[in-house]
Amino acid sequence: MGLMKAEEADIEVVCIVSAEENKANTDSTIKNWNLGPLKPSDEPETNKPFWTKMADIWKVGESVARTQLCANCEYFENTPEMIMLMGTIPRNEFDTDAGGRGYCHRFDFICHNLRSCQAWEYREYVSEDDKEED
Ligand code: SF4
Repeated sequence: MGLMKAEEADIEVVCIVSAEENKANTDSTIKNWNLGPLKPSDEPETNKPFWTKMADIWKVGESVARTQLCANCEYFENTPEMIMLMGTIPRNEFDTDAGGRGYCHRFDFICHNLRSCQAWEYREYVSEDDKEED
């Protein structure tokens, strides 16, 4: 089965930004919150200047900084529904080799698994077993 549009999947349609707002918010997050790296990679030791800068900002070691990705940030959403909604915004140069899209609810734009920014927040893993114990 190919990718369905949001309406076809009968999901609740919530508003996300327009393509223009997405670009403006991406640029603003790069400028004001050190979103990067601009050419991400999951190969070890790549983008050293970016990750050493983030390590300094977060006051952690470089190896720890490299684990703090949009992919595991509190504000990152990559549910199937959101991936479908983000499909309404055309791909651009920031999508290339960035590890896949997720929506940043802090800054309202499409960010990517392999990037990060200095507003990154730890997202706790909660298993089904943990939920049942509550
Ligand atoms: S707030 Fe989190 S999800 Fe948003 S750009 Fe920063 S690290 Fe990525």
